Amino acid sequence: MTNENQELRKAGLKVTLPRVKILQILEASDSHHMSAEDVYKALLDAGDDVGLATVYRVLTQFESAGLVSRLNFDGGHAVFELDKGDHHDHMVCVDSGKVIEFVDTEIEALQHAIAAKHGFELVDHNLVLYVKPKK
Ligand SMILES: [Zn+2]
Repeated sequence: MTNENQELRKAGLKVTLPRVKILQILEASDSHHMSAEDVYKALLDAGDDVGLATVYRVLTQFESAGLVSRLNFDGGHAVFELDKGDHHDHMVCVDSGKVIEFVDTEIEALQHAIAAKHGFELVDHNLVLYVKPKK
């Protein structure tokens, strides 16, 4: 049994060819962040005949099963990344659409402190910086 098959079963999903192919594409991706269209194009390039509607459906199933996270960046489409359980924040280049991951311990600590100052405990957060190449 392949890795992809095991991961699908572990997530409670039945093993189907489109699911295996799409999981392979996400795992092989250099950028780690792919839109449904990116996945669709990668499947076409690999000679796999999977429709865009199927790609959307499978990605939504993956999201529900906790296999991937959906990120909704301003002014663009949603991108998907494999959920490895590690926390990180993102910056998005407004020129190229490139997505960069980062973790900053000071920002992490500061967010806990701000929540605490308001009498709350931080449960989760979503930080996106919109950037452009420095001139
Ligand atoms: Zn990410």
